[in-house]
This record gives sequence, structure tokens and C-alpha cells, in this order.
Amino acid sequence: MAKYIFVTGGVVSSLGKGITAASLGSLLRLRGLSVANMKMDPYINVDPGTMDPFQHGEVFVTADGAETDLDLGHYERFTGVKMSRSNNFTTGCIYESVIRKERAGQYLGQTVQVIPHITDEIKAFIKVVAKGCDIIVVEVGGTVGDIESLPFLEAIRQMSLEGRAHDFFFVHLTLVPMLSIGEMKTKPTQHSVRQLREIGIQLHALVTRSAKPVPEDQRKKMALFCNLPQDSVISAYDVDSIYHVPLVLHDQGLDDLICRHMQLSMNPPDLSSWNNILQRMSNNSRQVVSLVLVGKYVDCHESYTSLREALVHAGLHTGCHVAISYADSEDLESGSGDDLALADAILVPGGFGSRGIEGKILAIKYARERKIPFLGICLGMQLTLVEYARNVCNLKGAHSVEFSSSTPYPITRILNNEDVIGEEPKIGGTMRLGEQIIILRQNSMIARAYGSREILERHRHRYVVEETSLAVLEKAGMLVSGHSPEGICEVVELTTHPWFVACQFHPEFTSSPFSGHPVFMNFIRAAQEFSSFKQGKLNREECYVPQDC
Ligand code: GLN
Repeated sequence: MAKYIFVTGGVVSSLGKGITAASLGSLLRLRGLSVANMKMDPYINVDPGTMDPFQHGEVFVTADGAETDLDLGHYERFTGVKMSRSNNFTTGCIYESVIRKERAGQYLGQTVQVIPHITDEIKAFIKVVAKGCDIIVVEVGGTVGDIESLPFLEAIRQMSLEGRAHDFFFVHLTLVPMLSIGEMKTKPTQHSVRQLREIGIQLHALVTRSAKPVPEDQRKKMALFCNLPQDSVISAYDVDSIYHVPLVLHDQGLDDLICRHMQLSMNPPDLSSWNNILQRMSNNSRQVVSLVLVGKYVDCHESYTSLREALVHAGLHTGCHVAISYADSEDLESGSGDDLALADAILVPGGFGSRGIEGKILAIKYARERKIPFLGICLGMQLTLVEYARNVCNLKGAHSVEFSSSTPYPITRILNNEDVIGEEPKIGGTMRLGEQIIILRQNSMIARAYGSREILERHRHRYVVEETSLAVLEKAGMLVSGHSPEGICEVVELTTHPWFVACQFHPEFTSSPFSGHPVFMNFIRAAQEFSSFKQGKLNREECYVPQDC
């Protein structure tokens, strides 16, 4: 039977519950346990697929094609375990399932209520994922005290009552703010823990977020007020990188505490992989490359979490520091492109909606003409082809049909027309999602980057490249270097440019801090060389050429 760790949060949101849960998953795995991570989100949307990235941040796509919370990305990156559709559910999913059962007459005349029907459903969703693993780390979205998360808290309280006490471990994460005079305040934590106890949940560990390590006397005080032994108060102070967190928690004995409570006699974790990352990070002599990310969600960096992490990983594994600056594509439309002038590399990521589209096209033109290493992802690839059609093939008015249904030169077509504009139009969950096979062209830039001719990458798009237009672009020098088995265009590149690649898939979802990702590492190597070339340290001919494939 699986053991359960529940991670809740209090005082304020965005404290890093996801990173804490991911770190715990990693530490326990490194002790040799089979661990699953999952997250319950308190909102009514069935998944975050239709939510505004400004509000929700990135949508993380799993291999099996679920649109999930960005914390699942942290779980995968920290633990190396692939998440699936069942590792994330929302209040919306729970109600959808209960209502479906009610309509099917499965409740045999009962009045369907939050307790027990909704809470039972929550427990059932958790147990499905728990099956077959030693420990499951369940993150409870939202903040204790919110009306929305009450059914989740009630469900996990019931679960702990139904099983053996040592199989359940409750971790609560709170904020310990610091006043301007440098004093740390523990009162909000005390209140938050009291709220949990009112619901009937007694903690086993308190993890406090603060700017500086919490001093001993403050820890003692919180332990006393929260009814905990002192070594169960862990200080998660601010660190330079999220990849420090597993070590910060381990150094204060959190994974030890869990194993003792759960009566697991495991060896200490082998932390060499984490130490290796920290060692790479602490190398201050790393070359700095400046990458400009051109998007429309640039004021909300959480919209690009996986992308940012993939770039960090690429820097770590190519021995450089990738300094990311964010250029608002709408600003580029009105300005001259000055934001791009210092770029060693330009990236146009995925996106939806027409705002800022022309700015992205300008950025692509800039990278193409000035031979700046360029990576376009998903929408970034579709716009790469729009730019080429307009400015190289002279097809005036060429566009993606997502933004212009009457364009004379449609560069894309909608994939599942009947879903989106059928009798009952659906938007949620109607895209081409998840892992798909891609066949790469021999000796292309992309095949050489992967060192392979066949790859699997994740997708999230509604439009695909229109074949007739693509043929015109190919004649004018655009190389199609990857396609799906059904013939959907997956990668394009320019052979007349040192590094210009655009792909329909999202390589950022599969990048690992421990090994990086071939596309990003190649891209960043090209950026390093471009930077050296600009500084007169390298000739173009000396630039990096990946192995033949
Ligand atoms: N909006 C485009 C499409 O649906 C691109 C999607 C994306 O970038 N994820 O095809």
C-alpha cells in the first residue's frame, strides 16, 4: 500500500509548493523508493488549457497529451518521472465525474453532496495514481483558508483517518515575512497552521519561506505554537536557483524526518546529480550569452516556465550562462527592433491570439537577415513561414488562417475543423496534443542536433502548415527537415543561415536539468559562437558543427 505525503500552503500563494513537492519526490526517489507526484487544483475549469497564461502561467503538456498545471513540469524535471493525465485534476474534473455518475443513476437515489460524494471522488482520483508506488506526494493547490480548497483538505483528512497514522505525512508551507527593520514575523504562520488544525489536520513538518534562514529562536517559537518538535520546522530560505531547494530541504533533515515517520529504513539519498548541477551553476567564469525571447506574455514570466528552465539547462550543459531578456512583441511593432540589437540568439515561442503577431514576424525577419541564431517554436514556426512567404517569396498578405481567414496565401490550415466550428463548437481539449513521432531529414541541422532520425516530442496546436504554400516556400530555399508519419510539417530550417530552426513541437517540455535538451543545447552553442564572432574571437568557419546524422 502506498504512503501519502500531502503538501499544503498558507498565508499567500506562489510560495513554491510545487518546487517543494518536486524536491521531496526527488529526494525520496534518490533513496530508492518509487514515488509519484500529483497536484489537485481548486478551480472549476476542467483543465488549464483554456485559461489565460497571464492568470495561470504556462500550460504544461504531458506525453499522453493532457494540458496540466505548470507544477507538473517541475515534478518531471526534478524526478525524471513522466507525468500523465491522472497526475493533475481540478475541482472541475471532480464535479464533471460526479455529475456524470449521477446522470447515469449510479448514486441510487441518494442526495449527492460535497461530503461524502465529492470528497470520495477526490480520494478515488488520488488512489488511482497511488496504486503501485511506495509514496505519493500530493500537492494541494490554493491556500489554506480558501473556500475552494476545503473539499480537498476534508478529503485528505478523511484519508489519513482511514489508514495507519504512519502512512500519512502532512507538510505545510508558509511565508515568514521580514519587516524592514530585519525582524521576522511568525504570526501569519501560526494563524495558518491554526486554520489547518481547525479543519482537523495536524502537521508533521512546517516549511517556512523567508528571505533569510529563520533563526533558531524563531523556529523554536513556531514549533511550540504549531505543536511540532523543533526539528520539524524547516527553513526554506531564498536561494539563487530552484535547483538548490532539494539540498536545502535535505540538509535540514526533511527527507529523514519523513522516512522515520513512515517507518522506512532507507539509505540516505545519493545527491551527486544535484551537487553536479550546483557545481556547474557556481562556475562564475561561464561565458554569458544574451537571448531575447519575443512574446506577448512577457510580463508574466510564469507563462514561459518550461522554456526558461530549458534555457537554463542548456546553459549548464554547454558551460555558459544564458541571460534571458523578454521583448514584448507589441512594443517591437511600434519600435525599431532596438531590443534585439544586442541579442546573441532570438527565440519566438508558442502562443495564441493575434496580439503582437506582427512584432514576432519582425523579430524573425531580423534574425534571418542578420544571421542571428534563431529558434521558433509552434506559433513561432508558423510565423517563420509567414515571414518567409511575405519577405522572400513576395507573397503579399500571406498569413496563418488563425489570424486572417481571408488571406490570399494561407500558410496554415485548421486541423480538426469539425471540433472547432462544428454544430457544437468545442475549444477545450481539441488540439493536437502530446507526444508524436517526428521523422527527421538526414544530415539536417535538427537531425544532427538530436543525433537521430526519429524522435518523440510533445505538441499543443490547432493549426498545421498548409501543404501547397509550403511547397512554394521549399522551392525558395526553406528546408522541411522534419515531418510526422502523416506528413504534417514539424521542422523547418535554413541552410544559408548558421542556425535557424523552427519546430511545430515544444522541445521545452522534455528538457532535463541533469542532461539538457539537444535542440536548446545546439541553439545555445550557436549563440555562444555568434557572441564570440561578434567580439572578433571566432571566424564564422570555426563555428560549431554538430556530428553527421
Ligand atoms: N496558435 C497556434 C496553433 O494553435 C500555435 C499554438 C502554439 O504555439 N502552442 O496552432
